[in-house]
Amino acid sequence: MTEHPTDFAVRALHEAFGLQGRLEPLPGEHDLNFKVTAADGGRYLFKIHAADLAPERAELQAAILRHLEHQAPDLPLPRLFLGREGQALPVIDDAQGRARRLRLTTWLDGTTWVEARRRDAGSAASLGRLLARLDRCLADFHHPAAAPYAWDLAGAASLSEDVMLIVDPERHRVAAEVLQRFTADVVPRLAGRPKQVIHGDANDRNVLLDADGMVSGLIDFGDVVETWRVNELAVAAAYLAVGAADPIAIIRPLLQAYGAEAPIAEVEADLLFDLILTRYAVSMVMAARQSRQFPGNAAYLLVSQDDVWRAMTAIRALNRPLAVATLRHACGHEPVAARRAIDAWILRNGHDFGPVLPLALTRETLRILPLGADRDTAARPGISYAERLAEVLPGIDGMPLGRYAEDRAPYDRGRARTIHLAIDLYAPAGTAVQAPLPGRIALIGNDATADGFGGILVLEHEAGTPHRFWTAYGHLAPADLAKWKAGDPVGRGDTLAHLGTTAENGGWPPHLHIQLLTALTVDRAEDLMGVLPPEDVDLWEGISPNPNAILGLPVNAAAPIAHRPGALRRLRARWIGAALSLSYETPLKIVRGAGATLIAEDGRRYLDLVNNVCHVGHCHPRVVEAIAGQAARLNTNTRYLHDNLVEYAHRLTTLLPPELSSVFLVNSGSEANDLALRLARAYTGGTEVMVLDHAYHGNLSSLIDISPYKFDGPGGAGRPRHVWVAEMPDLYRGRIRYGEAEAGPRYAERVTTLLRDLSGLDRRIAAFFAEPLLGCGGQLVLPEGYLAAAFAEVRAAGGVCIADEVQVGFGRVGSHFWAFETQGVVPDIVTMGKPIGNGHPMGAVACRPEIAAAFANGMEYFNTFGGNPVSAAAGLAVLDVIRDERLMANAAARGEQLTAGFKSLAECHRVIGDVRGLGLFMGVELVRDRDTLEPADRALKAIVEVMKEEGVLLSSEGPHHNVLKIKPPLVISEAECATVLEKIDGVMKRVAG
Ligand code: PMP
Repeated sequence: MTEHPTDFAVRALHEAFGLQGRLEPLPGEHDLNFKVTAADGGRYLFKIHAADLAPERAELQAAILRHLEHQAPDLPLPRLFLGREGQALPVIDDAQGRARRLRLTTWLDGTTWVEARRRDAGSAASLGRLLARLDRCLADFHHPAAAPYAWDLAGAASLSEDVMLIVDPERHRVAAEVLQRFTADVVPRLAGRPKQVIHGDANDRNVLLDADGMVSGLIDFGDVVETWRVNELAVAAAYLAVGAADPIAIIRPLLQAYGAEAPIAEVEADLLFDLILTRYAVSMVMAARQSRQFPGNAAYLLVSQDDVWRAMTAIRALNRPLAVATLRHACGHEPVAARRAIDAWILRNGHDFGPVLPLALTRETLRILPLGADRDTAARPGISYAERLAEVLPGIDGMPLGRYAEDRAPYDRGRARTIHLAIDLYAPAGTAVQAPLPGRIALIGNDATADGFGGILVLEHEAGTPHRFWTAYGHLAPADLAKWKAGDPVGRGDTLAHLGTTAENGGWPPHLHIQLLTALTVDRAEDLMGVLPPEDVDLWEGISPNPNAILGLPVNAAAPIAHRPGALRRLRARWIGAALSLSYETPLKIVRGAGATLIAEDGRRYLDLVNNVCHVGHCHPRVVEAIAGQAARLNTNTRYLHDNLVEYAHRLTTLLPPELSSVFLVNSGSEANDLALRLARAYTGGTEVMVLDHAYHGNLSSLIDISPYKFDGPGGAGRPRHVWVAEMPDLYRGRIRYGEAEAGPRYAERVTTLLRDLSGLDRRIAAFFAEPLLGCGGQLVLPEGYLAAAFAEVRAAGGVCIADEVQVGFGRVGSHFWAFETQGVVPDIVTMGKPIGNGHPMGAVACRPEIAAAFANGMEYFNTFGGNPVSAAAGLAVLDVIRDERLMANAAARGEQLTAGFKSLAECHRVIGDVRGLGLFMGVELVRDRDTLEPADRALKAIVEVMKEEGVLLSSEGPHHNVLKIKPPLVISEAECATVLEKIDGVMKRVAG
């Protein structure tokens, strides 16, 4: 008896799942698949497994779907419905009496990758992210039926015998070659790699995309297998390349996105190129097997094989070292594995290299061309590099040098490739070009196109080197190259050729283009990549590093390399510890600053409302000059007499109360606080330290210990025994609030209590640390009389009082030079940092001379950099600018303007709970409710993000992350403050309602 498959399906669906609906058959290699639309509109995928499918394979698929449902409920994968009796895989006999396993899953919307109209780099990246997360979830999934099967790449070697089934002789030859390479090279290198279960078939018919081209589903778990994890990527990459105009360009984002979520091992990255080709070979062999088994299907199978063959041919036509380097780089690895060893070898052996031109290439003779995006201010729209060069060259006396990494974007506008990968040395036509080290001729070419290279030679170097590398020479006289053939040996100092004339080398003025290559990325010399697209700079820097390693020219022959923000972020993640965080959801790449303005790479300007380091304005010319001038003259240390150190100490002490006449210069606020701690302990003999709650005093171990903001925060180890935390006086949400009498002395009573506690335990106080305005505490102004009362108690107990002016000193509060002065006290020790050098790393400690004397107990204090002549010069310039530009008056006026502005905004924005501060150190506390004071931290985060889009940089502060921190450079103008207020008004309307 026969039963039509759809009739059977209708029956099975009803019997097993109690579901009825419209069934549409879908293609499937072995199973019967149907799209089911139920009466209520619900859609499902109904699968009737092939009768000959081993039951455990069907069970495997069900098990994996259930595992993923638990592990990754948010991934767009099919979700399993259980049968009427709760079975994952109900079984029903078909008309032939064969047991058929049934599976009902959710229907995933989308268009398959092959059919999708919109698919681009973003689509590939979204697939990479999905596969990475999927594979991570599957890492702990095991199932006995996930055993290797014919399509598994890991077993491709065993297909070698069936290659002969491929009828077409060329395809046969190529598949055999690929499988041979796989067996010989790939298998041994992957042999030790751990295996895991993967989807195994993310091909272009199993990946679904939504209308925006983003992956909306991955279907068909029929090829699940336990194998090398990298095979997941090899399969996906192989199919993304099918039909792609530039196969590598579509594979790169797949790998980048995957690698960002699930790191790809270097050996895997190295082998991906071969694994992709192997996948094509497997597909060809399997198709050949099937067309032999089912001759009726042969024509159909061959059509899809044509696509595979085209993709395979396109990939094989690529230059292998370049493709491998590109894939390695996309996986997050150094593009060329040998780069490190080559660099190291050149570093050790460079002294043996000979001159490339028989000319004096010295600091005196070489002239770096004033070209490139970072130097040329006279470039005009529409002008080409060649034209600009022709304008500049005649004015140069000496040997012009075009820099490596020079960005030619200001010229040749619209060109994709703008970054120069070589050094250009301009010399007369006919100048001999000599081999700097022995090698042999690798490539010879003549690029006669306009703007071309003219005669080119590429030398390969391997004698004595750990890895081969290449040097390339362009703009040679083509006639000279006739004497060479590939493979000829070349000795150090041998003349390779002479520089060509303008007519012979693409119209350029005579010069040598010299490039270093760690991989031979071209098959023909004429294809040498001399200029590259800026987005590829980090890839190409790895392939063609600065050739001055070969030349040894005594000048900086390289332009600064500018990475695109996305690439920079990836590189940063690779090399910089993850404990260093970035601001903003999309971090900024700032490249310039002036006054209170910061300028991003894309030219966008931002008002900087949070930088109290660049106190007198970003890149203030007087400070820059002072630093550069002193750096050009001398930089040493405090073991020699130098005017700057003494002059600086003198200037600083004249700004401090006369009691504080001893000064130490250090390198940061943290170092200043650490030294203050040592001074206090030496002077008092005590060990204990008292700080205010939520305070931060620096990043050294000694200071993390006394910073509740850190030790009580995420990752903190809690309060150490020698540390005593006093209540933070917070007049807005604390125990005693605005308007209550004697708030200062009453908050200070807690200091008294703690002092009593610690002396009761027989401990002695060394120091009381306080910021005169509280930064991390939430930009709080201390209540009147607080420090006076606290200091008196601490001193009575034998301790010293330390004012941490790192954030708030140097005139920021407007009314006084130091913030402690607003409390009417004189500390025993004052510590300084941040603004002191306007960004130059510097710090200082000022103390009473008897404290400094007690510290001089025989142990020398030496600080290599502290107080060096350059730092002292920076410090002096900052003091001059504060005075000459009347910046304290500006701090006071702008502080009043902003305070008044925010207070008037508070009248219409109920989210503003409190506006406080002194001068240009302000906090605006946001609350969801002015009675309960519930912190509006989310609103604040949103405001900070939107204000960034509006061109204003702000940040959050305080224990509840709900205080808007405002501490701009003191030079901020009235108009700039007005802009900030206007923008914040608009943003608060939008964000906080
Ligand atoms: N003290 C205070 C109050 C600070 O805010 C900071 C830095 N945020 C430091 C000390 C430490 O300064 P630095 O990071 O320059 O070492």
